[in-house]
Amino acid sequence: MAFKVLILGGTSEARGLAERLAGDARYEVLLSFAGRTRSLQLPAAPYRVGGFGGAEGLAGFLRAESFDALVDATHAFAAQISRNAVAAAAASGRPLIRLAWPAWRAEPGDRWIDVPDMAAAAAAIGGEPRRVFLTIGRLEVGAFRAAAQHDYLIRAVDEFDPELPRARVMTARGPFALEAELALMRRERIEVLVSKNAGTPTTYAKILAARRLQLPVVMIQPPQLPAAMSAGSAQEIADWLAAHVPSAIQRGE
Ligand code: NAP
Repeated sequence: MAFKVLILGGTSEARGLAERLAGDARYEVLLSFAGRTRSLQLPAAPYRVGGFGGAEGLAGFLRAESFDALVDATHAFAAQISRNAVAAAAASGRPLIRLAWPAWRAEPGDRWIDVPDMAAAAAAIGGEPRRVFLTIGRLEVGAFRAAAQHDYLIRAVDEFDPELPRARVMTARGPFALEAELALMRRERIEVLVSKNAGTPTTYAKILAARRLQLPVVMIQPPQLPAAMSAGSAQEIADWLAAHVPSAIQRGE
């Protein structure tokens, strides 16, 4: 017998947690991907791909597959699935924990322009053509067609056609290191960084690099999520899960 954990993923932190739990005999873990990424990096843990069919679908899946707990380790901007997780946990009576970090904070001297959404981000770069490092992923790049005068370096997991006249796509997957981010921004003569304020430790280096280079950062604010039990590290989640494991499983029975 094992304690069954469903991890909602799509982040490197979720993958790390799933792989860690997969190596622990107390757990039977399943990592769930939405299926947005074409070049899915296979985890060293059991996984599934695709939506559940809303909150009811997720609640039904938790019940049908007899999961004992739900971990929401999705990206801070994946708001719908996080809302579904809260509703599904309540409906199915399963405990839920969310892996979440506080949003990044500007420091004195930082040149951040906080904006609520992608359309505002595109406008905030300004009218003058600039060399822009666009680090928002692939799916919402369309909003920047309203500011097509800029030279964009777009970083995304998958290759795609951004349908912008002056844009290049570089494919890469985090985590990213400060020295490499500094070198990239210098080499590309970046003038503005555009980022989601995801709070993710593995992507913070670009923010540090922009600070070091005194570049303006157009920072998209994170969506509001319903309250949930939250943890700031995989270790905290592991501790929380361990506290829920019945003693018979703890003893290896
Ligand atoms: P979203 O808007 O919150 O979710 C839309 C729908 O996609 C959900 O209702 C759900 O479909 C399905 N879905 C999302 N995450 C899922 C998961 N882990 N497993 C199964 N189904 C999932 O999500 P999104 O912003 O498009 O992000 C999609 C995925 O990419 C997430 O897993 C997220 O962690 C990852 N990601 C997102 C961003 C970002 O900036 N948004 C950045 C990096 C990684 P059903 O309602 O049918 O269940």
